[in-house]
This record gives sequence, structure tokens and C-alpha cells, in this order.
Amino acid sequence: MQSTGLALQQDVPLAPLTTLGVGGCAQFLVRAEQVREVEAAVRFAESRQLPLLVLGGGSNLVVADRGWPGLVLQVALEGICHYHGQGSEVFEVGAGMNWDCFVAESVSLDCGGIECLSGIPGSVGGTPVQNVGAYGQEISQTVASVLAFDRRDNCVKPLKAAECGFAYRQSIFNSSQMGRYIILRVTYELFPAARPDLRYVDLERYFAGGERRPTLLDVRMAIREIRAAKGMLITAGDPDSRSAGSFFKNPILAEAQYVELERRAAESNLQVPNYPALARQKKVSAAWLVENSGFTKGYRRGRASISTKHALAIVNRGGATAAEILALRDEIQLRVNEIWGIRLEPEPVFVGF
Ligand SMILES: Cc1cc2nc3c(=O)[nH]c(=O)nc-3n(C[C@H](O)[C@H](O)[C@H](O)COP(=O)(O)OP(=O)(O)OC[C@H]3O[C@@H](n4cnc5c(N)ncnc54)[C@H](O)[C@@H]3O)c2cc1C
Repeated sequence: MQSTGLALQQDVPLAPLTTLGVGGCAQFLVRAEQVREVEAAVRFAESRQLPLLVLGGGSNLVVADRGWPGLVLQVALEGICHYHGQGSEVFEVGAGMNWDCFVAESVSLDCGGIECLSGIPGSVGGTPVQNVGAYGQEISQTVASVLAFDRRDNCVKPLKAAECGFAYRQSIFNSSQMGRYIILRVTYELFPAARPDLRYVDLERYFAGGERRPTLLDVRMAIREIRAAKGMLITAGDPDSRSAGSFFKNPILAEAQYVELERRAAESNLQVPNYPALARQKKVSAAWLVENSGFTKGYRRGRASISTKHALAIVNRGGATAAEILALRDEIQLRVNEIWGIRLEPEPVFVGF
């Protein structure tokens, strides 16, 4: 459609644009490589009263089988601007950049702070949305600011990290201000010549007994290897990586809920695992809850299954529908709730339901 000045595509299948690979078509889709294209896309959606979905790398999405009855805006703004800050190395990165490519670049420049977030799929613009985290790091620790198009005030706005409302898997972008901002660029402040972050137990174990202190690159490679072993690295030929990553958040329990969980565990001669990284934030392992609710890795329902390598990932075994993914989600939630009295909250974003 040329009259809008936008390269609009119609009836575009969304499944191939996501890592889980389910769902129907977008009524319209536009790929924006410039800020003015983002603005034009918003105007187009508003003029036709079409719902707007912002798409990054599609690695945290479950798209409905009926698709998206509106405009999908794929943010593809590229580019990295790197300069020295006061005691930090500053990187202004286009929202459409591949996240792991940026991590690789920062590590190659000997800048620390995001090395443990290696191997996470998706775009830079997606990282502030759920405050991406893994292996002891969260992007809230290194994001300095976010540049976004504000749909409410119809202007481009810088937001300081403190204004982004970062918490566990949360920010204003996926909670109080959901749908308001289109992230255009993210500024990270990284640490020059940093010592890698080795707090996480999997990493400690990986490097135990080593003779020299691991470098940032060693940590990056280790994380990618650990992730691959869990199906948490998108790897050609690994059917377990056709997922949206962890499907459930680790629940954060109040004291009374935790006591009740321990009581129920004791009744079954089980002990609630006490991982220091989770305990610090009063979180319980969702994977443990799933595995102790009668589900095994590889448990299958139709063409959807639990990953054979990780109890938290729901995998499209080939040709699955969104309805099949949701049926497995519901079954897991129901059983965990029945047995443990805890409702698991899904992590991915459900689109078009
Ligand atoms: C194998 C695998 C492993 C994973 N491991 C982890 C992990 O360890 N830790 C973790 O936190 N996550 C993990 N994830 C989830 C996912 O990779 C991250 O949440 C990622 O940051 C999502 O980015 P994306 O660009 O793919 O976003 P998308 O999936 O495209 O979108 C997710 C949400 O962000 C919004 N969004 C995306 N881009 C923008 C933008 N520019 N402006 C405004 N809103 C936007 C979308 O509208 C949507 O609501 C994993 C996923 C997979 C498949």
C-alpha cells in the first residue's frame, strides 16, 4: 500500500516471526527502520482505528490462531553509538538490534554488566519491556535511559531508568503504561575492564577448579553452553528451542504462603529447594513446582510439550496451534494450583486472544 508512504504488507503470517512459531496473520505489517516510519505507522493505525502491536524479535510472544486484527509494527532501528562516560562505557543501541549481537560486541570491547545475558534471543528494544534477566544479571542494572515514542503525548521522549519502573520481569512498559511507548533506543552504561559476574550457582560450578580467573568472553561462552544444554539457546536442529523461553515466572511468595508450601512439601517428603539467587528475592522455583506436580520433561499434549531439557519451557513440537499451547499451559497451571495452592503466572505476552 503506497498511498500512506509506508511499505505496508497485508495478511502476513506471524508464526515465522516468533520463536514459538504459532498463530495466525497480521492484517497489516510494517517494518520501521527510521523514527519517522514509526511515527507514520502510528498515524496510520490511529487514522483507521486499528489496534497496534509492537514486534521485536518475537521471542516472548504467543500469537492467537486468529492472528492480529490490526497493524503489527516491527521495530527495526539499527545502530550502536559507543562513547566513554564518567567511569563507564556508554552504548546507545537501536531497538531493532539483535540483543545477543550487542552482548557479543560489548564483551569483545571488554565491557561487563550484561555478559550473563548472553544467548537471550530477541531485540534490544524488547529487553526493557520485561526487564530481561538471567544468571544473576538484569538489564535494570545497566540501563541508563530509554528513548521512546510516546503514543499518548505524540512525541519522542527520553525516560531515565528510574522512570521505567523496573522490577522482576516487569517495567512500566508491560504494566502501568502498557501500549503507550514504542522503544526506539536503549542506553546502557557498562563497566570497563570488568570482572565477570560469577555469583550464579551454574556458573560457579562450571568454572570450579579452574586455574585462572575467567574472562568476560569465557563467561559468555559458558552461558551459551549452559543455555544450549537447557534448550534455552535458539539452535538450528534443536526442537526444544522452538519455545518462548520460560513459560512461567518464578512465583514470589508472602511469608504465610511460603510456610504453607513447606508444609505441603513435608507431607510429600519433599523439601522446597533453596537456591540463594531465588531466596534473595523470596522467589520459588517454578520449574520445581511443575516437576513436582506430576509433569516430566517431555510431557506432551497434542503437538505441544514441555521441553525435554527444561521443565519451564513449553515447546511447539511441529505444527502446534496456539490453542494447543494454551491447553498445556492451563493443564500445568491447574495441577500446580491443586497440589501447591500457587497460581503460576505466564511470562510470555499473549497477543490477539
Ligand atoms: C529460548 C529462549 C530463551 C529465553 N531466555 C530468557 C531469559 O533468560 N531471560 C529473559 O528475561 N527472557 C528470556 N526469553 C524471553 C525473551 O527472549 C525476552 O523477553 C526478549 O527480551 C524479548 O524481546 P523481543 O524483541 O523478542 O520481544 P517480542 O517477543 O517481540 O515482544 C515482547 C513484548 O515486548 C514488546 N516490545 C518488543 N519490542 C518493543 C519495542 N521496541 N517497543 C515497545 N515494546 C516492545 C512487545 O510488544 C511485546 O509486548 C527467552 C526466550 C526464548 C525463546
